Order: sequence, then C-alpha cells, then structure tokens
Amino acid sequence: MLDILTHPAVSGLLVMTLVGALAYKLHFVDISGLIGAFVVGFTIWYTGGVVSFVIILFFFMSAGLATKVKYKEKAKQNLAQEGKGKRSWINVFGSGIIPMIFSIGMYLTGPEIAPELAAVGWPFLMFGGYIGAVATTSADTLASEIGVFSKSKPRLITNLRRKVPRGTIGAVSLLGEGVALFAGLFIGVIALIFALFAPGLVPAVTTPVHLVVLVPMSVLTAFIGCNLDSLFGAVLQNRFVCEICGAVTDKEFHCNYETKYVGGFKSFTNMHVNLGSSGMGATLGIVLGAGLFVWILGGLFFWIAASSSS
Ligand SMILES: [Zn+2]
Repeated sequence: MLDILTHPAVSGLLVMTLVGALAYKLHFVDISGLIGAFVVGFTIWYTGGVVSFVIILFFFMSAGLATKVKYKEKAKQNLAQEGKGKRSWINVFGSGIIPMIFSIGMYLTGPEIAPELAAVGWPFLMFGGYIGAVATTSADTLASEIGVFSKSKPRLITNLRRKVPRGTIGAVSLLGEGVALFAGLFIGVIALIFALFAPGLVPAVTTPVHLVVLVPMSVLTAFIGCNLDSLFGAVLQNRFVCEICGAVTDKEFHCNYETKYVGGFKSFTNMHVNLGSSGMGATLGIVLGAGLFVWILGGLFFWIAASSSS
C-alpha cells in the first residue's frame, strides 16, 4: 500500500488535489486556471521532483497572495489583475510552460533515462533553466503586485530620470527591485536547504560547485530577468495612454474611460513579454549553471590579485 502512495504519479495526484482545492478556495484561480495548474503542477512533481514542485508552489502561492493584498485599493487605481485577481489557464500556462519544459528536460537527462548526459551534469543545467524561469516570473509578478505600493513615484526603465504614474508599463521602483531580489533569494534558499538536508529530493545537484552556484544563480536570474521584463515591456508591448490621468498601460480602459493606443507592437501583449523574459531568465540560469559564474568570479579574483601585486 505504501509503495503505491509513494509512487510519484499517485503522490502527485494527491498533492495536486490538495493544492488545487486550496488555490480554488482562496480564489487564486478560476476553473480553467485550476485545470492548468493541475497539469503544470503534476508534470513538475512527476518530472522535476519535490524540490522543483516546492519552488513553483512558492511562486504560485506568493503570487496569489500578493495579488489579493489590498486588491480593492489596486482595483480602484486600475492597477489590479482582471477577473477579481483569479488567474485563468492562460495566466497559468504563461508562467508555467517554460518551467514545465525544463522540468521535463531534467527528467529526460536524468540518470535513469540518459546516464551519459546525467554523468556530465545535464540535469543541473536543466535545473538552472528551471530556477531561472521561475525566479524571473516570481520576481516580476511579486515586484509588480507589491511595487505599486511604493511611496515614491516609479521611474521608467528606459529613462530613469522620468517619473511616471504607478502601473505604467516599464515602470520600476526601489521597492519593486527589492522585492525582486528577495524573491530570487527565497527561491535560491529553498533549493539550497533541500540540497543540503534532503539531497535525495534534488538529484540534479551533484557537486559542491552546484551548491555554491544555487543562491547567486537564483538571485541574479530573478533580478536581471525581472528588469528585462520591464525593458521588453517598455519597448515592445502594446501601450495605451489614459487621457484622464496620463498613465501608460496595457489596458484598454483606465479611470473608467477608453484609452488611446500610443505605441508598441499591437499583438505584443504582457503574456509575450513574460514568456520572453522567463525564456531569458532560463537561458541565464543555464549559463550560470554551466559554471560560468564561478569562472568569471575566479578570473576576476586572479586578475585583481595579479594587477595589485604588480
Ligand atoms: Zn487613468
């Protein structure tokens, strides 16, 4: 009986039923979002193991909670997620598809299926891509949901001298940047704690270098990915201007009036921006996972040592 329960397919179904019921009860998702979350969550549990699941669960729950924080206040200022903050399947796949691909990648390059690839560290590269994607998405979501409470007006990422109204596409604030760093730190620490105390649940981590890389990899991908997201948004995304308050948004209505199209690619929505930035975050995660980070730091160290001794 216990054998059946510990089979990842069975435990995954059980865990996702619990998580799904909770998420639905808390109004984090609508029915389509619940089904999407079930597919993403189960796949990650089955292929990426417990640690990958806990990491995406952190994203999913913190994003749900952050969206609910002062929702009415955000709604009043047109800063809130639509649909009372419930995510639909489009939102869920928008943030879950790239992590899911890397989770499957971890499975396919793992020791049981591809021992030759596993022996040269492929699962860790996939894990790097996974962490990079989730850290970017978490940082971006939490920074947007919390950053709007910044006391000082945000600035435009393409022109940091320019102060812009809250909710403007490409707006950044110190509070948002801090939240992004914190999200990356949190995810890295989750991965590290698992790798140190339950290494069996983190099969991708196989060397001491992997352990050293985990936290900086997560913090850097979160921070850089989140800012890339703001940059892509400011440059590419379709933007509308509110003629009442002057805010530049992706919404066709603001301050209860229709907004005017002012620029960006018309079919380029926030979802495309998010997919692009989490793809970049994943790429960065792979690069850092490949040990480039250690080589760069090592190189820098020797360069400084060499130049200071001469
Ligand atoms: Zn407005």
